[in-house]
Amino acid sequence: MLGGTFDPVHLGHLRSAVELREALALDRVHLIPAKAPPLRGEPSVSPAERLALLQLGIGDTPGLVADGRELGREGPSYSADTLAALREELGSEARLVMALGHDAFLRLAEWHAPRRLFELAHLVVVDRPDYQAALPAALRELIAGRESEDVESLMARPAGGLLRLRLPSRMAISATELRRRLAGGLSVRYLLPEAVEARITAHDLYRQE
Ligand code: ATP
Repeated sequence: MLGGTFDPVHLGHLRSAVELREALALDRVHLIPAKAPPLRGEPSVSPAERLALLQLGIGDTPGLVADGRELGREGPSYSADTLAALREELGSEARLVMALGHDAFLRLAEWHAPRRLFELAHLVVVDRPDYQAALPAALRELIAGRESEDVESLMARPAGGLLRLRLPSRMAISATELRRRLAGGLSVRYLLPEAVEARITAHDLYRQE
């Protein structure tokens, strides 16, 4: 699972998902847009539009799935609930991974039911350029004793571990910068898939901050 706001999806998300799948030999990576992300402001475009952009961005990429399951749920989008649903579907023996960028990881201790996340899945933290801050004390406490050295030892169990991973193509692309560029009429070419850019242009999205 790679959850996020995807406001809009960009090549940092998509390339990370492809490389994560390869690095961990995953069957699938579900990219799951949050309907109402609890720890940030209202996204700029509707959940359905963010999902449509994500579907376009993924296109026919093998192993990547645009998963709209959080959009049908009432209330805030808690990852613990989404992981519980995936665990239910996959069974107790399947290895389930929640991936997140280092920026999101830094706030993990503030999430809803953070310990529950580890009961349901492994956490894999993807290194991201420009996010090198030290870990807060509450986070260090949360992850104590969970860290794996390599993929093999992590994936020997179905859940409960933590792995920090540096993927081959680290990309300094963020949705914040894309929205800033779109609002300012600047080019976003090669930062997101062409089909996503075409729909953003056709629907006049992200024109105002
Ligand atoms: P924003 O700038 O609006 O905060 P974002 O670009 O960080 O957005 P999100 O939708 O918040 O995108 O990210 C979803 C997940 O993908 C998060 O775990 C985030 O850390 C990760 N992610 C986003 N961009 C990258 C990137 N360039 N490389 C690696 N991981 C990324």
